[in-house]
Amino acid sequence: MTENDYLYTVSNLDSDIQYLPGVGPKRAALIKAELGVSTMGDLLRVYPFRYIDRSRIWNIAEIAGEEAYVQIRARVVSRTLYGPNGAVIPPGDKKLQYAVKRLSVIVEDASGQMELVFFKGFKWNYAKLVPDSVFVFFGKPSAFNGRLNMVHPEIDAPLPEGSDLQSGLTGVYPSTEKLQSGGVTGKVMCKMQSAALALCLPETRETLPEYVLSENALCGLAYAIKNIHFPADQYALQKATRRLKFEELFLLQLSLLKQKFIRSHGGPGLVMAKVGDAFNSLYGSLPFQLTEAQKRVIREIFEDMRSGHQMNRLLQGDVGSGKTMVAVLSALLAVDNGYQACIMAPTEVLARQHFANISKYLRPTGVRCAILTGSSTAKERRELHAGLEDGSIGIIVGTHALIEDNVVFKALGLAIIDEQHRFGVDQRAKLWAKGPGCAPHVLVMTATPIPRTLAMTVYGDLDVSIIDELPPGRKPVKTAIMSEGKIASVYAFMRKQIALGRQVFVVYPLIFESEKTDLANLQLGYEDIVKHFPQPDYRVAIVHGQQTNEVKNFNMDAFVSGRADILVSTTVIEVGVDVPNASVMVIESAQRFGLSQLHQLRGRVGRGADESYCVLVHDYKTGKEARARLELMCRTSDGFEIAEEDMKMRGPGDLEGTAQSGMPVNLSIASLARDGLMLAEARAYATRILEADPALQDPRNALLARELRKSKYDIKDYSKIS
Ligand code: ADP
Ligand code: MG
Repeated sequence: MTENDYLYTVSNLDSDIQYLPGVGPKRAALIKAELGVSTMGDLLRVYPFRYIDRSRIWNIAEIAGEEAYVQIRARVVSRTLYGPNGAVIPPGDKKLQYAVKRLSVIVEDASGQMELVFFKGFKWNYAKLVPDSVFVFFGKPSAFNGRLNMVHPEIDAPLPEGSDLQSGLTGVYPSTEKLQSGGVTGKVMCKMQSAALALCLPETRETLPEYVLSENALCGLAYAIKNIHFPADQYALQKATRRLKFEELFLLQLSLLKQKFIRSHGGPGLVMAKVGDAFNSLYGSLPFQLTEAQKRVIREIFEDMRSGHQMNRLLQGDVGSGKTMVAVLSALLAVDNGYQACIMAPTEVLARQHFANISKYLRPTGVRCAILTGSSTAKERRELHAGLEDGSIGIIVGTHALIEDNVVFKALGLAIIDEQHRFGVDQRAKLWAKGPGCAPHVLVMTATPIPRTLAMTVYGDLDVSIIDELPPGRKPVKTAIMSEGKIASVYAFMRKQIALGRQVFVVYPLIFESEKTDLANLQLGYEDIVKHFPQPDYRVAIVHGQQTNEVKNFNMDAFVSGRADILVSTTVIEVGVDVPNASVMVIESAQRFGLSQLHQLRGRVGRGADESYCVLVHDYKTGKEARARLELMCRTSDGFEIAEEDMKMRGPGDLEGTAQSGMPVNLSIASLARDGLMLAEARAYATRILEADPALQDPRNALLARELRKSKYDIKDYSKIS
């Protein structure tokens, strides 16, 4: 069949699921609303997330009551209807039928007895479960008062003696409460999949070229789809899973990498090939040795800047790993080659802090550095604008004010964006337009360590550099968990530290959905602290997002400059703020924060020479899992380890960094937490293909080009940085 014939064929894959037997428009609408699925082809791409093994019949005597699922073959002994308070209701009593609360059925096999319990469907189940009849029951067992029971088991006709068991593995599909109550149960879902499969399998078209299948030892799509829904056996399921995971990861990486290839093979970049005086004079006068990781990253950046292609690089490094130094050295490379550099921070406080640090570093180089923020005065701006235009300012630090229209550079060659500050399309265009006829190189820095697999995906279209080493001699922050009830001892500890001349952060959660309650908690917490730390002995400042910038800056300054001993705040202080004298970080309702966020917050202390502390205060109600997460924080200070764990515990969707930057697609079968190896394999393979055929124009890659045009992988607008 040619492509044209195909167009004229009525396609089942594209047919609405309402035409599947037993579905209809109402259920179809429900499924669409709940699962986002409307065609049969879409439906077949909703895979089971778990399988139940029905290849085994248990003896009742060997069931402990803790198994996830068991299947028994048993004879009905008796059945009883119960009303309120355990009163037995005679089955024939028409008047009392409405009062039935429970149907209890005792069944037995050769090894023992167990009870089946029903809280609905009394009439139907009572009629069906006639004493002495034999069925196969399937469900989750539990032990109650030493008696085994099973609530609402699935009931199937007994298998003929000596026949093979029902096909071993039954898929369990993603579901929602609405689907269940709308009658789309697991069983119905299986039936729908089976019907869709029968209609669509003959027209399923392969999505991967033959050579990709054979080079990666993958099974064909039709086989995979069939066996992911109805596995012939464990082995077939494994093959199907591997194929579908690989397909998903590979096409996603292919799409991301293709954009990267187009850019680096097509987009011209400013050539900065010289290492000159400015770079060397700072390098030669550093008060410390760069770490190996810093040196490696600077080499990677330099390679990009001299390559003739535009750099689009993400620099990841834990708090305190020395990213600023890397940024300054990169900026000096630009200056040495006759260009300017800008360093953009998300807030004014951070911009000022950067400016102070950077100016200090730049002293031996003689390079002029300036700062531009929303509160720069008109006079300052005039001077700045002139300096940028005539090129006398080599490096400018600032906030968003930098991308305003009236800021004109003589030759902007490098834009450094701190703390994963992402741009909208117009802002990006504005910054690009400031380059000298060609987009500047771009370096984005983030202190949120994210797992490698996630970095390859969320930032799959960027090059990623990682500083995975802290400067020597850093003391880890001593971390403890405290329950709310012990806050008095936390206060006592804070007093001791303040008496030693140190400062204390107290952070409250502020989660969007519960903003009002959170702000109220912050206010209450603040009042409590003021009560326990009264003036004039103590000075307490408060900062949160509802304050005007003026108030925020004023209070923040009070703390940064040491006029306040305690800073009570929401997570607005999370990013970048540097107060070396702060030695204690108290985090209230710590159980509500993500691990990566706790890690970020903790990174705010331990920046000076003193011993520093982090106290994670949690509520009474904190569960076991949440406690385990907090305990991990006490065990390690490695941001990447914490991020990996966070992803394992909560899944990639909830990680900070992801929430802000977004996953380019929703993965339907592969998992970034579990399939890291396959992801690396798929990415390497995609790279090989693109190296030979960057635009996927080779006829043997036609299938791939077609897949990338499909909506799921068509993510060309995703790249938010360049
Ligand atoms: P980041 O921005 O990654 O959080 P910074 O660049 O602010 O980290 O560096 C934190 C501190 O470590 C700064 O005081 C900086 O001067 C210092 N520092 C940076 N690199 C080194 C190094 N190689 N050895 C010792 N100290 C370093
Ligand atoms: Mg920093």
